[in-house]
This record gives sequence, C-alpha cells and structure tokens, in this order.
Amino acid sequence: MSRRKEDLRVKEVPPIVLDPASKKQYTKGRFLGKGGFAKCYELLDSETNKNYAGKIVSKALLVKPHQKEKMSMEIAIHRTLHHKHIVGFHGFFEDDSNVYVLLELCRRRSLMELHKRRRQVTEAETRYFMQQIIIGVQYMHGKKVIHRDLKLGNLFIDDNMNIKIGDFGLATKEEYDGERKRTLCGTPNYIAPEVLTKEGHSFEVDSWSLGCIMYTLLVGRPPFETSSLKDTYQRIKRNQYHIPSKISPTARSLITRFLHKNPLERPDVMKLLEDDFFTTGHLPKELPVSCLTTAPRFSSQINRKPLTEVKGHRKDENTPPVSDLARKPLHGRTPPVVEKKDLKDREDVNEDIDDINKSIGEQDALCHLPEMMKQLVKVLDSKPCEKNPKQFDEAEDPAAIPVLWVSKWVDYSDKYGLGYQLNDGSVGVLFNDSTRLLLHQNGENLEYIDREWNESYPMMSSYPESLKKKVTLLTYFRNYMTEHLLKTGATMTPRDSDALARLPFMNSWFRTRSAIVLHLSNGTMQINFFTDHTKIIVCPLMGAVTYIDQNRESRSFRCQLMEQYGCTRDLYSRIKYGRAMVERLIAIKSQPPSSQKQKKIAAPTGGQPKRAESQVEA
Ligand code: ADP
Repeated sequence: MSRRKEDLRVKEVPPIVLDPASKKQYTKGRFLGKGGFAKCYELLDSETNKNYAGKIVSKALLVKPHQKEKMSMEIAIHRTLHHKHIVGFHGFFEDDSNVYVLLELCRRRSLMELHKRRRQVTEAETRYFMQQIIIGVQYMHGKKVIHRDLKLGNLFIDDNMNIKIGDFGLATKEEYDGERKRTLCGTPNYIAPEVLTKEGHSFEVDSWSLGCIMYTLLVGRPPFETSSLKDTYQRIKRNQYHIPSKISPTARSLITRFLHKNPLERPDVMKLLEDDFFTTGHLPKELPVSCLTTAPRFSSQINRKPLTEVKGHRKDENTPPVSDLARKPLHGRTPPVVEKKDLKDREDVNEDIDDINKSIGEQDALCHLPEMMKQLVKVLDSKPCEKNPKQFDEAEDPAAIPVLWVSKWVDYSDKYGLGYQLNDGSVGVLFNDSTRLLLHQNGENLEYIDREWNESYPMMSSYPESLKKKVTLLTYFRNYMTEHLLKTGATMTPRDSDALARLPFMNSWFRTRSAIVLHLSNGTMQINFFTDHTKIIVCPLMGAVTYIDQNRESRSFRCQLMEQYGCTRDLYSRIKYGRAMVERLIAIKSQPPSSQKQKKIAAPTGGQPKRAESQVEA
C-alpha cells in the first residue's frame, strides 16, 4: 500500500462508536484485522448485546467520486443479500470521520487461514466447503449478483464451521439478460481469462474462481501460481495448469470443467450439486473446529472397533496390536525419524495414498521447525526494535491467532509424564514412554498415539485393557488440572462432528531455568516464561508470533510484517530466546531414535499427582 493511503487509513477508532442518526452506541472490542481500505473491529451493540464485525473506512479515503461509488455499490449490493452462506449485513452508518458497516462476526476467520495451516485438505472437507460456497453463489446469481472476487480470504467461517461469502467490494449486478461487463475496477485474486483479455465477462467468472478455490483446497497451492504476476497471467490466458495425479477422477473432472477457458463451457452453477463429485463421495454434515489446524478422521467407526476387540489381549502396552499396525498406512502420522526425502517431492510420495493420508502425510518429525527457524532468524536479522516504534502496530494481524494453545500444564515427568490442557478444554498426556493419550473436550473421544505415531481412537466408555493405566493417569491429570488450576472458560457444546475431530498432540517439550517449551505436532511452539508469566506462541504455518503479555493481553504479529515494521524490545528478546529453543528442539529431534531414552511409567498410586509442578494459564 502506498504511504499516502496508509496515512489516510483509519487511525484511531474511539472506544464507543455512535451512530449519529439512530443514536445507537457500539462498544469497540477486539481488533479483527485490516484490509486495503478498511480496518475491522468487533463492535458490540450495548443495547442488544449483539457483537458485529465492524468494517470501518476512513472518509479521507472516500474523496474521489469513483471511491465513493465503489463503497456505495458494495453496500447497495451486500444489503440486498440475506442467506445462511453469505456474511450477514446488519446496517451501516457514518460519523464525521468514518463509514461503519456492521457485518456478521465470523470468529473462525476464513478459508485462507485454514489453507495456510493445513495446506491441502481432504476431499471430504473440500466437498463440504464447496457445497456451501456453491449454495451461496446459486443464491447470489439468482439475485443477479456477480461476486467477481471469490477467493479463500473472502470465504469466512463462523463458530459452527459454516462458510459465509463476504466482501462484495468488486461485486456487480447484471442489469439486463446476457449483459457482458466490460470494466472491472480492481484486481480479483483468481482472475478469469476473459477478464484479462477484456472481452466481456459475466457470471462465469465466479465459476472460474470456484475452480481455483477447489484446486487450491485439494492441491495446497493455486493452479496458476508462479513467482511473478506477469507469468501467472500468461498461464491463465494459455489455460496452463496441472492437476496432480493424486486428485480423484471426479474432483479432477469438476476442476477441469470450472477452469474451461471458454466461459460458456463452464458448468451451470445451478446444476453443480448434481455433479458426481458431490453425489458419489463422502459429504460430512458438519466439520469439527479442529479441522482448522488438523486433518479430520473419517473412519472413526472402523477404527474404534478393532481396538475394543483386542481388549484384554494386549500384554505389553507399548507394543501396538496387529490391528493397529495394519491401520498404519491409513492413520499413521509420519514416524518420528527425520529423513530428508520426506521433506521434498511430497507430491510424488503421496500420490497413491488415500484421501485421509493426503493431509496427514504432510507432517514430518520436525513438525515445521526448520521453517520456524528461518522465520525467526529473518525477523531477528532485520533488527526490528531499531525501527520506528510508531509503526510497530502495523505488524499486527489478528487473523494469525492460534486455533489451539496450551492453557495449563502439569510436569509429573519424574513418574508419569507431562499433562496439559488445550484452550478448547481437551487434555493430553505425553507419557514417559513417548506415547500420547488425548481426551477431547467432550470427555468421551480419546486419541492414542503410539511411539511410531500410529493413531487409534478409543472411547472413554470403551477402550482396550492395555490402555487402562494410561487412561487412569490421564484422568488423574485432568482432575488435577481442573480442580487445582484456574478454569479456562472453554465451554463448548457437543456436536455430531466431535467424532471427526483430531487434535494436535505434544510432539516434544522441555524446561529450562526460565521457561517451559512446548512443541505441538501441528508445528506450533509455545514458550511460557516463569518469572513474568508472559508467553510466545510461534506458528510457522501462519508465519506469525503471538505475544501474551503480563496482563494476559494477546496480540499476533506476522513475521514478514515485523521485518518491515519492527517490534517492541519485549517481544524481540522473547523471539531471540525462541530461536535458541527451536535450535534445541531440532537438536533433540535429530538424535537417532535409539539415543532418545524411553523412561518407564510408574504405576498410578491412586488419588492425584501431588508433587507435580504446574502452571496455570488461560
Ligand atoms: P480486505 O480489504 O482484505 O478484503 P476487509 O477490509 O474486508 O479485508 O477486512 C479486513 C480484515 O478484517 C479481514 O482480513 C478479516 O481478517 C477481518 N474481517 C472482515 N470481515 C470480517 C467478518 N465478517 N468477521 C470477522 N472478521 C472479519
């Protein structure tokens, strides 16, 4: 963005915003993010207690007639749309400085953040998201509205993992049947060839974008991506893209139809849901929130059964039953040995494995530590605290906030292991024998991860005898954390999709004199500093660091933006410490497995861990 536009953008939004016409008051809440023109904050209607996403645009940016017109058009179009898969429009007003638009609050952000955290998602998830997007587009097109900028970042997600199409900044209305639009004021992300060649465009540009969205979700990168915009546009014009062979025939066929160079050959949006892709594959009714960061499981039934069958037959709890090993290709996370070949050519390696493994197979034993190292080193090398402190806020990006973090922990590793609770209310133990047991927040679903990272999904109400000791210990840990430590306040109602949930687990951890370092299998590293209770949570997939200060205020910053705009000394010193901790984690993980000693787990003594050291954090 140009310096001038930056200067003009909304600076300070007052703590209370008043609609001068209606006299309604809105309390400014959390900062949600900034876009090209707007800044978004949560706005609470003090009367009704309803929370909105308030999109706020400085009037200084709406001086020229075309700017005003664009904003009015966005409002005029969006306000006519009322649909469960379109971001709700709840009004707009202005004061002397800004225009305020009240939108439905989408707390789970957008498919963009999901894509960054997950890279490629499973076909079943793609089907789920695409179905909702298409239903929204069918409604929109029925109202003669062409969105013209459908992209992952404009597909918002609500608390229940429902898609909401938003941002009508480039939208237009068909004025008469068969109208071809000649102009487009702005640059759509997934730009269609007929827009590039300016030969006139209409509803079919949205189908093109749907193809790009579907491709990106399944493959993990956009279809025409190159390192330069010029080359990308060339490829679009030449219709030059490649669908990896691992993509199923039905998905391939639909993507190909969407990405037809001739707009008139693209599929009819109204009939899309009759396509084989939707009618022949598994279409989940709901998705769990954990999908935002971890691939779901779609075979819990198949999976649970063999484990209960082996009840009583497993003598050695550290030896997985044959049925577990048999499942390895399906549910094994990549074994904890670092092999260079695992890090490259994933596309080829993964080609033949099934849908579920597509996403799971992404993981390696280092769990994104090298990426994290690079990011932190780059931030530190840019000397961020020597930059202009007035600009530090520019590095903030609330969309990068972690989905899951460790809210409590109990170190009882002299006997059993490390117990912890995540912010969603789930609990886990990394036992001294390097196995993990997780209990989801519904108190029923368990995940057992053995030393080879094979997963099985027993239930609290039925688990194999061999897991008895571990379940007992997990229960002790859970009771200890909920009785003795502060409540996190995580209250979530159970959902059908709980059975699909799959959580990240504790990959490794250690303590220093001044902090505990926790590294989760989704790549997130959290450091809790003992003396001042501050924390950093580094997410290499988002390329972001979240800093929780002494007042428990949390703010997320993008590494790239910190390189540009800098950061405070407090954060700088913690990032520096973080870099040293990543080095240690890499060193631990790079040891041959034989030298990683396995301790025995002591027998539970009954009651609860008494001498455990613990930390309470929300
Ligand atoms: P852009 O200019 O990138 O399209 P916007 O100005 O629409 O972005 O919004 C800025 C940021 O505010 C977005 O990136 C997003 O993180 C957040 N945001 C926008 N709308 C919503 C919403 N309805 N719910 C939650 N967050 C939102």
